[in-house]
Amino acid sequence: MSALPTPLAHLIQELVKLPGIGEKTATRLAFHLLRTERRDVELLANALLEMRDGTRLCRVCFGLSVDETCALCEDPQRDATVICVVERPPDLIALERSRQFRGRYHVLHGCLAPLDGVGPEELRITELLRRLEDGTVREVLLATNPTVEGEATALYLSKLLTPLGLRVTRIARGVPMGSDLEYSDQVTLARALEGRREVE
Ligand SMILES: [Zn+2]
Repeated sequence: MSALPTPLAHLIQELVKLPGIGEKTATRLAFHLLRTERRDVELLANALLEMRDGTRLCRVCFGLSVDETCALCEDPQRDATVICVVERPPDLIALERSRQFRGRYHVLHGCLAPLDGVGPEELRITELLRRLEDGTVREVLLATNPTVEGEATALYLSKLLTPLGLRVTRIARGVPMGSDLEYSDQVTLARALEGRREVE
């Protein structure tokens, strides 16, 4: 097919599968790795496998964890009366970086998208409801993304949770509509958390 030796072509084939990596970048990276010392290539390969094998979902909040329960859920300093609901693990990490929130989290692993066949059953909503059963949690802060689907998910959850007698809040519109929390800067996220308000 081309003058590329097969192993190099294979690597390029794998790199192209990564988000944001086109054929050109993949080729450049592959040639870079070819020139890299074997020890460093080994470190990279091991880091990839270690990440894959050593990361799982926390059995409580479904955020990323090394152990069965994550460090955030185990931390007695965190306020157990507030749960912040996010769509995906990167959102949790972004909010944590803002250092504005001291409660617990719950990761839905997506948002409602009926057109793509994602209904409530596909999200970790049952698990969230189970966490509310013992009455410890008094506030649920909805921090789904300010996209159409994220807003629809927040609305769905508020209708589900308000009748349970909980305080249901939504992060403020500091985050521009249509953008993901994941890519918002720390100051914007801190403001969005600070300005949270009751869901009508
Ligand atoms: Zn957890």
